Amino acid sequence: MTSARTIPGSVRPIGVLGGTFDPVHIGHLRIALELLESASLAEVRFVLAARPPHRPAPKASAELRLRMLEAAVADEPRFVVDRRELDRPGPSYTVDTLASLAEEFPDASLCLLLGMDAFLGLPSWHRWPMHLELAHLVVAHRPGSRPPDDGPLGDLLRERLARSPAELSASKAGRIHMQAVTPLDVSSTAIRTAVKAGKDPRYLVPDAVRRIILETECYAEKETEKAEG
Ligand code: ATP
Repeated sequence: MTSARTIPGSVRPIGVLGGTFDPVHIGHLRIALELLESASLAEVRFVLAARPPHRPAPKASAELRLRMLEAAVADEPRFVVDRRELDRPGPSYTVDTLASLAEEFPDASLCLLLGMDAFLGLPSWHRWPMHLELAHLVVAHRPGSRPPDDGPLGDLLRERLARSPAELSASKAGRIHMQAVTPLDVSSTAIRTAVKAGKDPRYLVPDAVRRIILETECYAEKETEKAEG
């Protein structure tokens, strides 16, 4: 749906968490919930990157990653799966997603939610300065990544850092807030590697996601690789 609409009774900001979600895991779900609570977001939209431009192709198909994502958020009404990047041809650029959300929700401000590692990669994103024209950035700390002191992001932080989430409400876009969250050293890569090695992803992903991983064997070692090994 692309027509403009307002979330009834609310002008609270909308959180946008983009990801490959290959698979979605507790790290994603916890940052979504903790940032939703700390920034008083109306909802968090999980935007599945259908064709992420800056990384190798995902292991699971977009349809399967979408199925896992839908299963993961099914019992949390404030989490919404957003499939607009699947419905759009070409590379999945976040800037295009933000522009489309801004058109759909003209009354709400947008908060782009990022883990620290993703924030550090921002200067390599397509039309990167434009993200701050369209949204605030809310950055979650992530084990293994430190906030930047220098370079373009260090300068950006000196100009635009919001010391508290409340400061974000003074403008529609353009500020950056860094948020400490429960540190969870979990990644999709580590989960795929563990599953491939025959280990159980239980407690790292929701049960419903684990069932899909086991049933489809989407991260199991391929027969051809076994033969070569
Ligand atoms: P991969 O290991 O395949 O690169 P990932 O675990 O980093 O995957 P993505 O889908 O690439 O997951 O991440 C989507 C977003 O969630 C990014 O902004 C990323 O920084 C953030 N994120 C993922 N896991 C965590 C975590 N454990 N703590 C904080 N942020 C996270």
